[in-house]
Amino acid sequence: MNNDINNVDVIIIGAGIAGISSAYYLQKHFPDLKYIIIESRSDLGGTWDQMTFPGVRSDSDMYTYGYTFNPWKGSIIGTGKDIKLYQNATAEKFNIRKNILFNTSVESLAWKNNQWTTKTNKKNFQSQYVICCTGSRDYSQPNFPKFKGESKFKGEIVHTQSWGNTKFKGKNVAIVGSGCTAVTMTPAIVKEAKSVTLIQRSPAWIVNVNGNEKSNRLYKTFETLVDYALSRMFKKSYKKKVLSKYSNYYNDTNIPSYGYWNQRPACSLNNDYFDAFKSDKVSVEHTGINNWEKNGIKLQNGKTIGCDLAIMATGLNAQLLGGINIFVNEKKINLNKTSWYRGMMFSSIPNLFAHTGYINFSWTARCELVSERICKTMKFMKKNKFTYCEPKYIGEKSKPAIEANYVLRSMDKFPNRTYKFDNRNYLMEYMNFKWAKINDGVLTFH
Ligand SMILES: Cc1cc2nc3c(=O)[nH]c(=O)nc-3n(C[C@H](O)[C@H](O)[C@H](O)COP(=O)(O)OP(=O)(O)OC[C@H]3O[C@@H](n4cnc5c(N)ncnc54)[C@H](O)[C@@H]3O)c2cc1C
Repeated sequence: MNNDINNVDVIIIGAGIAGISSAYYLQKHFPDLKYIIIESRSDLGGTWDQMTFPGVRSDSDMYTYGYTFNPWKGSIIGTGKDIKLYQNATAEKFNIRKNILFNTSVESLAWKNNQWTTKTNKKNFQSQYVICCTGSRDYSQPNFPKFKGESKFKGEIVHTQSWGNTKFKGKNVAIVGSGCTAVTMTPAIVKEAKSVTLIQRSPAWIVNVNGNEKSNRLYKTFETLVDYALSRMFKKSYKKKVLSKYSNYYNDTNIPSYGYWNQRPACSLNNDYFDAFKSDKVSVEHTGINNWEKNGIKLQNGKTIGCDLAIMATGLNAQLLGGINIFVNEKKINLNKTSWYRGMMFSSIPNLFAHTGYINFSWTARCELVSERICKTMKFMKKNKFTYCEPKYIGEKSKPAIEANYVLRSMDKFPNRTYKFDNRNYLMEYMNFKWAKINDGVLTFH
């Protein structure tokens, strides 16, 4: 380990959508500032570098998922590969790539004597600010439900978060899970697989997207937010409307048990998911798993699904700040005992900003709002010669932003309080972040 300390103004951790956004806005507002992006993977892209399972693509429209400072020029839904290429092109265009330190993992962050020390597996750094762009999930441990008899199973089990070189051609495949991943993967493997059985405890909401749709950011912003708002206001009638629109697919056996938009609806592209069901190779079982058997999976309804390949599309484990150990004046921080300020800072943690996106709108849109707000805060501090800022521990008990299983599973790892003015709605935050004073009485300056 090289113990030399390297000094920069800002450390950004993570080179995905949020990391590139942070770097772009820092460069725009502080051309002379010295920053570095620390990334544990060997390439940038974050989610879109890691997720390589067949069919991986966006569910959001790319008009709102693309950066405003480098608008997306491709089709309305982006493939994982194209989104990664787009992120690479953005980093090249704005000269960001040269500031990324790849294959370097942050192990801990320690605030002492009014600055951060960032310990990595290679070098250590000191900086006035840290921006965590580490995403919202545990990169090493996805949600992998365990069932009895796993060692008996003679086939292969793979989680979509670590797809590697998994082969499915000519195999009997079982896909466990009903979310966006299962919906995009099914049409992508059905042609080559011998059979595909989906095992789902609860079916998901699925909507169709026309891949040839030409639109623009403003229209898609309103369309998505209005769809979300109406589904919240008129829960029953809206649910009915969606069911009748897709009456060729939904029947008494596959209506989701949760409300429309309680989780992000999965998207079928040009009806690919609905069409996949026309093939007699595809079937679905709406029940839980009981145990593994030598040649397949025994379900709670008593059936056994024979398979050579079991794909766990069972989602992620939510995690904030990349699970990095954080110390403030030598005291270890427990995030669950903090207040979450504007979804971008935590009480008791000075000069540390963090990105999380929306669940009901494109992630990138929030990254850009937060990036601008961070720069505004830093400018305010510079002008007034402050060294650090931190939010007060106040607020109301946190509620889950959405009833997605991965959020509900992880509530004990999230801050226990949020502030009254926090509202994870793009339009509300757009106005709030633009016009709310930096010195708002909650953020304190020293
Ligand atoms: C299959 C899939 C489809 C999705 N589709 C959509 C969609 O359509 N619309 C939408 O809005 N959202 C979608 N999402 C959510 C998606 O995660 C976000 O849109 C976005 O990519 C997150 O970007 P990020 O930069 O915040 O985090 P990430 O992409 O997760 O990147 C975090 C980076 O931080 C790095 N890192 C973490 N810890 C450390 C450490 N200790 N040291 C160094 N580096 C570290 C990681 O290696 C990673 O590169 C999807 C997610 C998945 C999995």
